[in-house]
Amino acid sequence: VALTAQQKAQLRQDHPDCYVCLELGVADSSLAGYENRWIQYDHWQPQGLIGAAQATMLENMRPIHAAPGGLSPLDPGWDTSVRRNCHRGKSNTFTGSEWVSYIKIAHLAAKASYSDDLMQDRDQSDSAYDVHIRWSGDGQSAEMLGRQHAVMTQRVGPTQEEWRSIASIVNPRLLWVDEKVQSRAASPTRLAQFAWHLRENPLLSPILCRWSDNRLKVFDGNHRLCAFILARQDHPVPVTIFDGPDPERFLNVAAEAHDTLTQLKYQYTDKALKFSALHADELESVQERYGDQASEELAWRGMRPADVRLRIVGRLTLRLDQAGEWRLKWRGLGLTDPSWNQFLETYAKVTPEAAPFASPQYLREEEFENLSFLCQAFDEGLFDTDQARDSLKTKWWKRSHARFARALSQVVKNSLHLDNTPDKPTYAPTWDQWVHTEIRKAVDNWRESPAWRDDTAANNEADIDRILTQRGFTETALFG
Ligand SMILES: [Zn+2]
Repeated sequence: VALTAQQKAQLRQDHPDCYVCLELGVADSSLAGYENRWIQYDHWQPQGLIGAAQATMLENMRPIHAAPGGLSPLDPGWDTSVRRNCHRGKSNTFTGSEWVSYIKIAHLAAKASYSDDLMQDRDQSDSAYDVHIRWSGDGQSAEMLGRQHAVMTQRVGPTQEEWRSIASIVNPRLLWVDEKVQSRAASPTRLAQFAWHLRENPLLSPILCRWSDNRLKVFDGNHRLCAFILARQDHPVPVTIFDGPDPERFLNVAAEAHDTLTQLKYQYTDKALKFSALHADELESVQERYGDQASEELAWRGMRPADVRLRIVGRLTLRLDQAGEWRLKWRGLGLTDPSWNQFLETYAKVTPEAAPFASPQYLREEEFENLSFLCQAFDEGLFDTDQARDSLKTKWWKRSHARFARALSQVVKNSLHLDNTPDKPTYAPTWDQWVHTEIRKAVDNWRESPAWRDDTAANNEADIDRILTQRGFTETALFG
């Protein structure tokens, strides 16, 4: 409904403040200083709630700051800006009051990486948060918080160790971040959206925790728990509680419990991130023990290669996430978790290095710098364009990067005057300007390649290799 100039003037007189700023208690909520065309008029209550006739009545309209290019309430610095756009970011389906609620949630979410951040008034040593569980002698039941629970028993992990657990619902204030196993911080945007969803929808999969030192420690579900608390502070939350094994042995349980209980497969990377957080001190302890001779190989000797690989991938991913969040962005654009791992495996060394940390042959730091540059180059040259999608299919991605990496290794060897071609192009001394320039050009060549102009239906690696060559996606065409 278009409002007349007279109606607008009336509304501004009745409501001299922007409703968003007013409801959120911002210091200067007035509309003064905003030109007429910088103000919009919103429905406060939804039509569904009060009926179409009333919803469109003048009484249900509220003015709102809407300066072009101004800061949205979802932007940092919005509350002190003199050029606000309190309408920007508002979903079409929101009414005014819903938009205000959403902003409140988003502001809390922005300050919460872990569920403990949302309950900072608790004192960890306060015995009010003690949880006692009495497991019955026959292994059938357990008493917790005055209630009997059926005990579930599972054999999991490579050793088929037996773990017991109970399912229950508890006040979220009894849940603590597991200082050993939990590693993923929540992302504010996803958190706000998830919390919004949970206001009216149940949390279907339980938060997983272990019982240790009379505390319930969350090792899986930080994101869900944060969202749940934001959505409904005092509601009990569904949990599955494992009898507190030590965290070292616990990781396999964590992974399998996640897969079977939440019916969501752990992405490989999630598992890798947990491993690397859990084993952060391994390299330090080998250093203490072996001094100058300490190496990755010594630190991880005797472990299954798969577990060592998880540690290395986890470390690289953690640092790359911190440096640029490329993985998360690319995932949002359609790159699968296996393809991220393929990317790392193609360019980085995912096996333990035998050279001691102290030796010049140990190149993890250089590798990280080189990988960061490579991510940045693909991010800007490919993912920031709308031409990324064509090369993201798992096997096409894999085979294309195999070519790119082989050619890149040659460029690195020549440019840095190395004796040998590096096995993995990023595991090399820090790249120089020449390598950087060549990579930028090669990513452009990738993006513009005729390879993506025809169909990419083939799903067999040999076929894909043949087609890539036919369409001129070759090492020489990439790095001409
Ligand atoms: Zn405002």
